[in-house]
Amino acid sequence: MARILVVEDTREIAEALQDSLESEGYEVALATKAAHALALATSHRPDVVVLDLGLPDRDGYEVLRELRNRGSAVPVLILSARREEADKLQGFRLGADDYVTKPFSRPELLARLAALLRRGAASAAASAPVAREVKQLSDEALRDRYGLTPRQITIARLVADGQTNQEIAEKLGISFFTVRNIIVQLLGRLGAPSRAAVGALLFAEPNGDD
Ligand code: CA
Repeated sequence: MARILVVEDTREIAEALQDSLESEGYEVALATKAAHALALATSHRPDVVVLDLGLPDRDGYEVLRELRNRGSAVPVLILSARREEADKLQGFRLGADDYVTKPFSRPELLARLAALLRRGAASAAASAPVAREVKQLSDEALRDRYGLTPRQITIARLVADGQTNQEIAEKLGISFFTVRNIIVQLLGRLGAPSRAAVGALLFAEPNGDD
């Protein structure tokens, strides 16, 4: 089942989108703010992002820029009331894959998302493993700043990668309960309130090329 991250702060639009997409069989995560969108983009690992531009905390362009700086190649469809050519060009320049203006046609939006998902799946298959220019905090920084052990660092990276406790347990050949305990310890050391926050924290290092 494809996962779609909807970033939209207008409740009626967000709910209508969520209903439409879920009735098509997609799994939907909803963010109403830029910060929440970036955390979910890490924790939820969407297959496509529907991105509004006018958000309460930061502009949608900033979300797009940050995603690309983190090395994310997730297809992004901008859904905005901004109809100027300059806005569209700015979106594409920052790495958007498609741009739909509001008010939008539901069938057209669904068709465009399906096309992006097909293309995304094809390019992932063609280029795996994707060369990701992800700038993460180094092991040394995690050890020196937060006092993480090597095992905690390994698990923190898997959490930041969006893996579940069960997946991490299988990958490392340890029990689910051990993974859970280690994650509790590392959330404490990192001062992170949630798993999503671990991703945001590990990817916090500025990329330096923008
Ligand atoms: Ca908005």
